[in-house]
Amino acid sequence: MENEYTVTIGLEVHAELSTKTKAYCSCKIGYGDEPNTNICPVCMGLPGALPHFNEEVLNYAMKAGVATNCDIITESKFDRKNYFYPDLSKGYQITQSDKPVASDGYLEIESEDGTKKKIGIERIHMEEDTAKVTHDPFGRGTLLDYNRCGVPLIEIVSKPDIHSAKDAIAYLEKLRKLLIFLDVADCKMEEGGFRADVNVSVSNTDKLGNRSEIKNMNSFKSIERAIEYETKRQIENLKQGKENSQNTLRWDDIEGETSIMRTKENANDYRYFPEADLPKFEVSEERYDNIAENIPELEDAKKERYINDFGLSNKQIIFVLSNMEYIRLFEEANDIISKPKEIANVLMSDVAAYVNENIINPIDLKVTAETIAKYVSLLENGKLNSKTGKKVLKEMLENGGDPETIMKEKGLIQITDEKQIKEMVEKVISNNPESVQDILAGKDRAVKFLVGQVMKESRGKANPEIVNKEIIDQIEKMK
Ligand code: ZN
Ligand code: MN
Repeated sequence: MENEYTVTIGLEVHAELSTKTKAYCSCKIGYGDEPNTNICPVCMGLPGALPHFNEEVLNYAMKAGVATNCDIITESKFDRKNYFYPDLSKGYQITQSDKPVASDGYLEIESEDGTKKKIGIERIHMEEDTAKVTHDPFGRGTLLDYNRCGVPLIEIVSKPDIHSAKDAIAYLEKLRKLLIFLDVADCKMEEGGFRADVNVSVSNTDKLGNRSEIKNMNSFKSIERAIEYETKRQIENLKQGKENSQNTLRWDDIEGETSIMRTKENANDYRYFPEADLPKFEVSEERYDNIAENIPELEDAKKERYINDFGLSNKQIIFVLSNMEYIRLFEEANDIISKPKEIANVLMSDVAAYVNENIINPIDLKVTAETIAKYVSLLENGKLNSKTGKKVLKEMLENGGDPETIMKEKGLIQITDEKQIKEMVEKVISNNPESVQDILAGKDRAVKFLVGQVMKESRGKANPEIVNKEIIDQIEKMK
């Protein structure tokens, strides 16, 4: 019986920090820059080049530690992790072994069935990324881009508290969102900015089984499939009386299976020893306080506030919280006009549709919090109706600009002048005697038709409420 087996999943996440410069030299960080232009003797690992520590990295790592309820260390150091790295030419990675900056925290996740679970965090430490390796598809050689070498990373290691693929993904999504909210990493998965080593072990006793590790995964879908595949494979082995061996595996996304890369080296194979070129360091109380006091409002707190203070629907909340730019537009526009539901709706409908159709990043939108606020208030006080509003918003999205100016330029100012509307209604009524008969016979649906005709007559600019009222008034007089 399969349910006798428990799967245990451990996750080691590497996130590239979004500091301006590298961890141990002053080279700029720039994803997509011309290869090997952001380099110096330190990050190229030339003999005799001395590293110096970028303290921003410590601040960022501490932020992540505080936000995941970790203890922050007071005295720490760096270590060398020795290994043959073709993409790290000094032959070792500067990392932290026995004194990680943060340890023993947790992250609360929500399982599929809605139950909340605390997933322990063993440690968070600081280290550096390697060069980017590109194998020539025609077999002519291997290209190395040192721009990425020395980019600061934090490695976040979970405790063995996760027991399903779905919970693993919930944890990763939560963690990724957290780092983005903290503004310490942009976590662009397609750029390798957030990647996970996934450990899977299966057991039907109290002891953990031997684990296999799948390295460097940067797609949630693949991680979920790989965990499910490994769980099945290991259970199958145990059922056949075979022991699972401790392996490092590769996931093949096309075949949907894992294959052995190497049998696992243990930590002592790396011959960690203290990094002699960087001094030990202390974390002052002042630094800690400064960081702890400046943790921004995080996802769960925002969710609560959006429900309690703004009455947003679940759908609206999920949408607004899906992107930092939507959050900013929403909150800043709402600070101006206090119309949370209306603003969320504009973002969720037309703005999101525009973003999706044009495949742009919300950060590149031409609308601003100010113009959205203004747009919503023009709708609210009846200067725009839903029809003319759409036209104005389309122009705002395509070319930017102030909604009131656009409205005037395009001649879209709503007609609220009752005399003007009265004349249009008279005309429509005399042109549609059948509809009038219908209404007099009690068929109210015909009112809608007449409203539509007047709106057409006004080229969408009449205030539909006034039109509706005027039609009813005029027909009432015919009775
Ligand atoms: Zn450098
Ligand atoms: Mn690492």
